[in-house]
Amino acid sequence: MSSPDVLIIGSGAAGLTAALVLAERCRVLVLAKGALDGGSTAWAQGGIAAVLDEGDTFEDHIRDTMVAGAGLNRRETVEFVVENAPAAIHRLAELGVPFNAESGALHLTREGGHSHRRIVHVDDATGWAVQQALIAAAKAHPNITLRPDMVAIDLVTDRHRADRSETPGGARRVWGVYALDTGTGRVECFSARATILATGGAGRTYLFSTAPRGATGDGIAMAWRAGCRVSNMEFMQFHPTCLYNLEVKNFLITEAVRGEGGHLKLPPGVPGGGERFMPRFDPREELAPRDIVARAIDHEIKRLGLDYVHLDISHKDPDFVRGHFPNIYERLLGLGIDMTKEPIPVVPAQHYTCGGVLIDLAGRTDLDGLYAVGECSESGLHGANRLASNSLLECFVFGDAAANDILARWEQFPAPPDLRPWDESRVSDSDEEVVIKQNWTELRRFMWNYVGIVRTNKRLERAAHRIKLLKGEVNDYYGNFRVTADLIELRNLLQTAELIVKSARARRESRGLHFTQDYPQTQPAARDTVLVPN
Ligand SMILES: Cc1cc2nc3c(=O)[nH]c(=O)nc-3n(C[C@H](O)[C@H](O)[C@H](O)COP(=O)(O)OP(=O)(O)OC[C@H]3O[C@@H](n4cnc5c(N)ncnc54)[C@H](O)[C@@H]3O)c2cc1C
Repeated sequence: MSSPDVLIIGSGAAGLTAALVLAERCRVLVLAKGALDGGSTAWAQGGIAAVLDEGDTFEDHIRDTMVAGAGLNRRETVEFVVENAPAAIHRLAELGVPFNAESGALHLTREGGHSHRRIVHVDDATGWAVQQALIAAAKAHPNITLRPDMVAIDLVTDRHRADRSETPGGARRVWGVYALDTGTGRVECFSARATILATGGAGRTYLFSTAPRGATGDGIAMAWRAGCRVSNMEFMQFHPTCLYNLEVKNFLITEAVRGEGGHLKLPPGVPGGGERFMPRFDPREELAPRDIVARAIDHEIKRLGLDYVHLDISHKDPDFVRGHFPNIYERLLGLGIDMTKEPIPVVPAQHYTCGGVLIDLAGRTDLDGLYAVGECSESGLHGANRLASNSLLECFVFGDAAANDILARWEQFPAPPDLRPWDESRVSDSDEEVVIKQNWTELRRFMWNYVGIVRTNKRLERAAHRIKLLKGEVNDYYGNFRVTADLIELRNLLQTAELIVKSARARRESRGLHFTQDYPQTQPAARDTVLVPN
């Protein structure tokens, strides 16, 4: 394709939703950094929230979302998303997503925090079904070109005009992106009238995360470097139980294991080893809400200097365990753990990035021509904590809203000017790839230890100091050598980590997912943490 009309970076739920709407009227190019289904969308298990039951109301869904968000949600956004949810589900069903149904109506499940049954799903693999349906529709559309294996590096702005003319005030309009073709090793410049970031979250900033490998905050970092505000980055959601395994760092052990009687215990060899600890933290014990269980595990791990705690369901009948958790049983067995006979080592793991690029109700960012949708954005929907199954919903509603806004304002999107190609002067290959691996591991480890579930001023200060050192090292490296996918991701991870730590240090209270021992109280007024680039 020569220059597309609209460029979309990301082929998950948010990116492809936007692509399908835009393609009715213009030519769309979608870039993905690995496989088209390599983002979080394909991994979503539970489902999508929408008011579809007669006894349910928009007001209830709005209230549940705002209670979870600890008062930080923007009500206007919550109303917008909740009220557009039924239409979004309808469009997905029309695309062929085989939602579970019963007696001619969609089957609805219930999840924690929801006051009604309102989760549509495709068994326990909703995201996979949605992702496949979106990819099939996008592939079939003559106006959509899909380019997997393209890693976006940086946004192309007014600063990159070929004539070097400067727009007063610096970069105000985005014209596209520089992206590395991992097949050829070449960097291409893609230009378009409008660009949409749909690059997903930043889970891989942490040692343990349920998100796929590519969740490195690329869109957030690119938008920040180009001049966009970023908000509420301190709110990282952690899932309480992920398998502790240094090779497999993202295997989720469903909460149903605790629901079916699994106990959390301290491992042997420490005071209280082999004993349950949740009764000390909450009367609901193992069935306390996610954040309380995650915080209790984190507390015990830090108090005793452990690597993990144990999740034990071996006291139950082996047939019951195998029958209820066939997939987990098989997967663990393959890793040498028989959950019918022994406990599973678990740690909490990063699960969802609530903050991101600040957007309005149409997905617009601070820069003309640039939109952000899905997990890379901060729309005001989630506030200080995400309500389960609201995140895929956000992708569909905002993907649609951004696309329609572009179409409605098409006259205001000029054709791109001539732009400078990527600077190929950095042609030498590094013989020090070890620097990337070392720094990547170091970053994820100290983010885990210092900027995880329970924070303190001291820990955040330590993390900020280390980020500064690593950033200097990586920027130096970036300036001197040919870019690789790993280097691009590490640079973005460091940028995102810096934004998380800055936001956490700015919040002098505990609210929702952000808990700090130095300010355990919640302030009466809820305020967003908005970071403004220099
Ligand atoms: C294990 C798990 C279970 C979940 N379960 C649920 C659930 O039941 N319900 C729910 O609502 N939510 C759930 N979520 C969250 C939900 O899946 C995500 O929030 C949502 O899928 C994000 O979609 P997205 O389109 O914003 O990004 P993603 O689906 O993550 O897609 C990101 C895209 O951007 C591309 N990309 C990233 N960086 C670059 C770059 N530099 N250059 C080019 N392309 C790039 C990627 O290749 C990918 O195509 C779950 C998440 C996980 C990890």
